[in-house]
Amino acid sequence: MNIVLIGAPLSGKGTQAERIQNDYKLVHISTGDMFREIMNQQTPLGKEVKKYMDKAMLVPDDLTIKVLQERLSRKDCLNGVLLDGFPRTLNQAQKLDKILKIDKAIYLKAELNELLERISGRFVCEVCKKTNTITDKNIVPCVYCGGNLTKRKDDTPEIVTFRFNEFMEQTYPIVEYYKKQNKLAVIEGEQGINEIYNKIQIELKKL
Ligand code: AMP
Repeated sequence: MNIVLIGAPLSGKGTQAERIQNDYKLVHISTGDMFREIMNQQTPLGKEVKKYMDKAMLVPDDLTIKVLQERLSRKDCLNGVLLDGFPRTLNQAQKLDKILKIDKAIYLKAELNELLERISGRFVCEVCKKTNTITDKNIVPCVYCGGNLTKRKDDTPEIVTFRFNEFMEQTYPIVEYYKKQNKLAVIEGEQGINEIYNKIQIELKKL
């Protein structure tokens, strides 16, 4: 079973990806994680990737597809993959169809105002780096390790709005693309983590 997980930044994709990966024994492939790893290597490819990532721009399609194709050619992918952060453009989705049979595309739908609300309570621990969600007015210690919590640098309304608009412009067309192929499941993001996961499971059972 090969799944594509689609969602704007902050839509909760990472949390759901972790659960799907564990329960369905799929290989979780996040192109963002792959690029961060590549970027940290002092290679020509690492330097090339860094140019785009530093500006929060998408890495060109040709390069992205090449990196993904190499990852998909490894043996562990034979039992199924969960793609997270790929495809991110219509061109990537079309190219992917030539490499891999996608069974389902899950779109975690979230509105911009909901995402902006989410960042107001989102803090990161200076020690263990885990994200904490705070509903209280007072900033409390990290629930995981007791460390100090601070705001993430990119959790500003301006950056989140920019990234959301970029998602709608560049990535949303793939939602329509999978809809036309009858492979799309839309899950409303304004629900609890467990409710969202239950709906994902219902969708995957249909396969
Ligand atoms: P992410 O962690 O998914 O937000 O990705 C971090 C960065 O990696 C993005 O801002 C892009 O520069 C790059 N990236 C990740 N996935 C892709 C993709 N499918 N196509 C192009 N660039 C990507």
